[in-house]
Amino acid sequence: MVLFAALGLVMGSFVNVLIHRLPLMIEASHNATSTSRFDLSWPASHCPHCQARLRFWHNVPVLSFLVLQGRCAFCHRAISVRYPLIELLTALIWVACAWHWDAGWISMSWALFATILLALSVIDAKTTLLPDLLTQALLWLGLAASALDTTHISSQDAVWGAILGYGSLWLIATVFEHATGKVGMGAGDFKLLAALGAWLGAWTLIPLVFLASTTGALIGLVLMLSKKMQRHDYLPFGPFLAAAGALLAWLGHAQVLRALQQLFIA
Ligand SMILES: [Zn+2]
Repeated sequence: MVLFAALGLVMGSFVNVLIHRLPLMIEASHNATSTSRFDLSWPASHCPHCQARLRFWHNVPVLSFLVLQGRCAFCHRAISVRYPLIELLTALIWVACAWHWDAGWISMSWALFATILLALSVIDAKTTLLPDLLTQALLWLGLAASALDTTHISSQDAVWGAILGYGSLWLIATVFEHATGKVGMGAGDFKLLAALGAWLGAWTLIPLVFLASTTGALIGLVLMLSKKMQRHDYLPFGPFLAAAGALLAWLGHAQVLRALQQLFIA
């Protein structure tokens, strides 16, 4: 448990790096004139206001935020409370997975699954982007996890999950686009559902998409009624897919999968 909490804090700190840097890296890759190096490891961690390079003890998860009282050690400007919150939330995910599964490889793989989903959700909510780096990593890890039998679904289920995950959303989006002339989903959503299919299996995609779209529509309606969102605003779908996927994994996707298989095949 302590190991999982510590791993979670370190992972949470890395999630912050992903959330901050991946969108900027995508932006930089579209901007051919920029020549300065910017990726996940370069430049070293720095304050976004005064650019001062952080000392290594400024990077200690949660603790450094408390010691510095939420301010940059150099320019004393406020550090977003999002940083320690993401670190704590990731640690909570890791501890919850250790408690729910066996505190071994199986919990570790599901904790990694949930951590990547958390990073994707926050990035999508902030920027409407779902970076390929993360959706692809999640897809390959899902296929590997089924081959290693940490997800308890067959490799066949995982491969069909990936193919049908991508294909079904692509089909819905293409039909929707032809019918309404509007873009409802991005290719990032297809890739995310492909990855979720690889982790949870093809049949689990049915309750997953149902859950994600109903909660998405409900939240969209609430946001519109409370005037927080306009009719034409784009509500990112990624966080809903991610949350539905995490919920089904928690509830036991393998049982859900077998129940649906019996329902539809028998
Ligand atoms: Zn500063």
